[in-house]
Order: sequence, then structure tokens, then C-alpha cells
Amino acid sequence: MSFLDTTKATSYLKEYSQKDGLSVSELMDSRVNGGLTYNDFLVLPGKIDFPSSIISLDSKLTKKITLRTPFVSSPMDTVTESTMAIHMALLGGIGIIHHNCVPEEQAEMVRKVKKYENGFINDPVVITPTTTVGEVKKMGQNFGFTSFPVTETGKIGGKLVGIITSRDVQFHEELTTPVSEVMTKELVTAKTGVSLLEGNEILRTSKKGKLPIVDSEGKLVSLLSRTDLQKNQDFPLASKSAVTKQLLCGASIGTLPADRRRLTLMVEAGLDVVVIDSSQGNSIYQIEMIAWIKKTYPELQVIAGNVVTREQAARLIEAGADGLRIGMGSGSICITQEVMACGRPQGTAVYNVTEFANKFGVPCIADGGIQNIGHITKALALGSSCVMMGGMLAGTTESPGDYFYRDGKRLKTYRGMGSIDAMQKTDTNANASTSRYFSEGDNVLVAQGVSGSVLDKGSITKFIPYIYNGLQHSCQDIGVTSVDDLRAAVKAGDVRFEFRTPSAQFEGGVHNLYSYEKRLHN
Ligand code: NAD
Ligand code: ATP
Ligand code: ATP
Ligand code: IMP
Repeated sequence: MSFLDTTKATSYLKEYSQKDGLSVSELMDSRVNGGLTYNDFLVLPGKIDFPSSIISLDSKLTKKITLRTPFVSSPMDTVTESTMAIHMALLGGIGIIHHNCVPEEQAEMVRKVKKYENGFINDPVVITPTTTVGEVKKMGQNFGFTSFPVTETGKIGGKLVGIITSRDVQFHEELTTPVSEVMTKELVTAKTGVSLLEGNEILRTSKKGKLPIVDSEGKLVSLLSRTDLQKNQDFPLASKSAVTKQLLCGASIGTLPADRRRLTLMVEAGLDVVVIDSSQGNSIYQIEMIAWIKKTYPELQVIAGNVVTREQAARLIEAGADGLRIGMGSGSICITQEVMACGRPQGTAVYNVTEFANKFGVPCIADGGIQNIGHITKALALGSSCVMMGGMLAGTTESPGDYFYRDGKRLKTYRGMGSIDAMQKTDTNANASTSRYFSEGDNVLVAQGVSGSVLDKGSITKFIPYIYNGLQHSCQDIGVTSVDDLRAAVKAGDVRFEFRTPSAQFEGGVHNLYSYEKRLHN
């Protein structure tokens, strides 16, 4: 028997007309394969000729916002409040703050994110020389920082007379002493107009923790903090406004008339992007809301949804959405498909909507059902620009709520926003979820989600870098050097797929072991 020439294996392949595996359109032909989700297929490996570290995960969140990582935390009251939003942004993603609270509370959470990491702190908390040591210690507990510039008026714009920090009051037992007696009066300052870079250099060389910025008359204008400089070094991917250098922040609203006031408060707090939160976005309420937002706040980026069909997407794109959120019934806490009969398997939904929306330059977020790094890669390969995670981020240090123990396990609550628990939330007077459900005169709550618990996952400061590195390795296996490259290569038919039978899925998981421990990262 004669064999082909081994040195010609690659050129033989090129001549061989049929590429291995399926193109994305062949895979996602639901007339043939039915509705698919992430576990139903695999991406075929490509060629590795570059290190994984060079792979760029930059991706669009909306028409005007690009993130350094495609990770978004879900607007759920057990997932995203200010702490999660701050850390998601520091790590290169973005957090969407939930709206199951009174508008003022939500706006305050947005403000916290925007004020977290400042270049210049333009509205520092300032005290008067007569403020007492006891008051300063109390303020430290309330604000979470212990350094205060001291001005004659106790306000910004007043003449700067000193600075007080934790070191000045730490061992001072007499609480009634005025700060004028313990503050530092010989100050290192910089003049208005100093650049961030120059200010940071002064902090570095003077070895001080704070640098007050003053005008020509010695009046306080703003403040620089060394820890902010440190944070900039620790979080090189941080999602920030190019102008203000503040962290980017998103928040959700509903479609009731009262949500307009809610949004106004959040825009005043510095909101960058709003997510209109609904399981079925193709509604007259949402279309009117988009029109109002676009007219009132033309600069604000609007993510509409949720959608799972092209028809739904078309209406929201036409209404002016800057991004779409895809997923109905795919969430880990969701019973929508069971109760409403509506929804779509997530892989098919992501493919169909993104294939359409990307033609109009509208980026899409794959929302719900993300359980591991492989799912993230697949969601991006199918055309989404970002992924939204609820369950993956619940149970982390940064998610809201306290840990509790059950059966010897350390847990946190994770619940659907359409669960009875979330709808009946009693710790605020304005119950956002319930008011939505009762908006059409219902007198019985119909749950679309459940309330449960998840294991302690530690801090997202470890978890997000783990999925970041994992996603880079996944792209390397596929042979693409960026997320944009991945989408382009899928569209061109160069990245190929394979359908996975139930037994193939079984084979792809750990099997036939007596016992094992699944540790995902160190
Ligand atoms: P929703 O606010 O879109 O709808 C709730 C009800 O209020 C609907 O009957 C709607 O028609 C009505 N409504 C909305 N605006 C109105 C207006 N201006 N006037 C009169 N009636 C109005 O909320 P939802 O879809 O029930 O979702 C609730 C929460 O649960 C959200 O956080 C959502 O993300 C989540 N959820 C998500 C999914 C999913 O699969 N992605 C599924 C279920 C629930
Ligand atoms: P610590 O108690 O940890 O020593 P600190 O007072 O030194 O805290 P930093 O760690 O420097 O405070 O700052 C924490 C955050 O609070 C920073 O992001 C900083 O911008 C902000 N911050 C610090 N001081 C003030 C202030 N007087 N007014 C407003 N924001 C401040
Ligand atoms: P840590 O070393 O834990 O960060 P801290 O927050 O108190 O403690 P600094 O802000 O550097 O650290 O304060 C140390 C001392 O330096 C304090 O006595 C403070 O009053 C003084 N100090 C801080 N900033 C200035 C400044 N710009 N000019 C002069 N003295 C300053
Ligand atoms: P997960 O990442 O699989 O846990 O899914 C999170 C997503 O589920 C959210 O971003 C919402 O789109 C969706 N969701 C939130 N609350 C509910 C609910 O009560 N029922 C159904 N879906 C929900």
C-alpha cells in the first residue's frame, strides 16, 4: 500500500475541500440540531504560535465603552452592590448595581464606586481645627478612611491649616482634644494645575500619605492619596473614564414611570451605563424608556433587554439601544422557562441575536448560564462581546450578604430577582421588585426564580484573574490572539465546532474516579 508524502500533509489539507468540523452556522442550524446551549458543543483547537500572555481580552460593552476584560456582574441583590462594582471595575470588568432598593440607596452605591478611586479627590471630607480627636476617630469608622485636611472653615475652599491622619490620633487617648493640637502643620502641598503624574511624584519623594492641593492663597482645592496611586499600580486593567479617571459604574432600572427619577439620581452620581432590567425586553414600556433616556441623557450608554430573538433585538436596536443583553430562562436560579413557557436555549439565543445585532454595531452581553471558563469562551465565540455572571460571582467576599454555616459549609444566599424572597424584600420601604410584579394589578405573586445558597468562593480579586488567565489559555488553544480575533475567525469559518452527544458530554467531564477534589486555582 502506498502512502501520501508526509511533508505535504498541510498542503494536502488545503486542497482537500472540506474543513474539519462544523462552521458556526452549520452548528447553530436549529432546524437540524435543535436549540443548543454551551455544553452541547465544543470548539476545535487551532494552531499555537504565540504565548497566551499576549492575548488581548479587550471587548466592547456598548457602542462607546470598551473594557479590558469581558466580565460583567449581574444586577442582582445577592451579586452587585458597590463593593462588587468597585472590584469588578478595578479588575477590568464592570458591575451593574441592582435596583431592588430605594432610588437614593442605589444612587449612593453608584456614588461610592465613582468616588472610590480618584485621581484628585475633588470633594474631600474636610474638618475644622476645633473638631475633636474623638470626632475624628468616629469619622474614621463612618467613612472608612482616617485622613482629613483641616481648613479654617472646615470646608473645601477654606485656608488649609493642617492635616490629620490615623497616625496622629491613634495613641491619643484624650478624646476632647481639638485637632489643632495634634495635627501636622508643616505641610507638603502642591499648587493647583499640578498634573496627576507630578502629584504622584511628590507623594513618592516626600514619603507622605496625602498631598493637599492648594491655590495661590493657600486655600484647599483637592487632595491626592498615596493608596490611590498604589491601586493604580495594582490594577493595570481597571475600567476607568478617560477624562475623570474614576472607575466605570453601571446600574439597572425597571420600566415604571418612577424609574425615571431613579435614573436621574444615578446620573447625578456619575453613572456611566444603565441596564434596563427585564426578562422580556421587547415591550412598549422599554421602548418608551429608551426614547426618554436618549432624549434626556444622550451621553449615557443604554443596555436594553433581555432578548433571545432577532425580532426582539430589532425593536430595541431601532429604539436606540447601545448594547443588548441576551438570555431568557438560562440563569442558574431561573424557573422562567418552566413557568412562562418562554425562553430559548442560551447558545442558540446568543448566536441568533449577536449575528443580527453585530451587523448594526450593537455589542451584546451573554447573560445567564455561565458556569465555567469554557462557557465564557463559547459565549464569545458565538458572537457576544461580554458575559454577565450571577451565580459565578455570588458567594464571593465582594457579593452582598453575610456568610452563614450549614452542614459544615460556609455559604452565602444567592437568589433570583424574580424569586418570592427578592420580590418580598422587607428591608426597604420601596420594594422595587414587588411594585413591578403588581404593576398590572396582579394580586398573586408569580415567581420566576428561586432563592438558595452557594459556597464561599473567596475574593474576586483571585477569581477574576483566574478566569482572565483561563480565557487567555482557551484562546491560545483555539489559535486566536484576541477576543475580537475569535469572533472574526468564527465568522470567517476558520474556527470550527463539533456537536457533542450526551455520551461525549459525559466523556468530557471527570469520570470513573472513586473520589476527587476539584480545585480550580491556587
Ligand atoms: P419587568 O419589570 O420587566 O416586568 C414585570 C411586570 O411589570 C411585567 O408584567 C411587565 O409587563 C410590567 N411592567 C413593566 N413596566 C411597566 C409599565 N411601565 N407599566 C405597566 N406595567 C409594566 O420584570 P421581570 O421581567 O418580571 O423581571 C424581574 C427581575 O427578574 C429582573 O431583575 C430580571 O432580570 C429577572 N428575571 C430575569 C429572567 C431572565 O431569564 N433573564 C427571567 C425572569 C426574571
Ligand atoms: P487608613 O485608615 O486605611 O489609613 P486613609 O485615611 O489613609 O485610610 P486612604 O487609604 O488613603 O485613607 O484612602 C482610602 C480611600 O478614601 C481612597 O480612595 C481615598 O481617595 C479616599 N479618601 C481618603 N481621604 C479622604 C478624604 N479626606 N475625603 C474623601 N476621600 C478620602
Ligand atoms: P500609614 O503609614 O499607615 O499609611 P497614615 O495614613 O497616618 O499611616 P500618612 O498619611 O503618611 O500615613 O501620615 C503620616 C504622618 O505624616 C502623619 O503625622 C500626617 O499628619 C503626616 N502627613 C501626611 N500627609 C502630609 C503632608 N502632605 N504634609 C505633611 N505631613 C503629612
Ligand atoms: P447565572 O449567572 O446563571 O446565575 O444567571 C444570572 C442571570 O439570571 C441574571 O443576570 C438575570 O438575567 C437572570 N435572573 C435574575 N433573576 C432571575 C429570576 O428570578 N428568574 C430568572 N432569571 C433571573
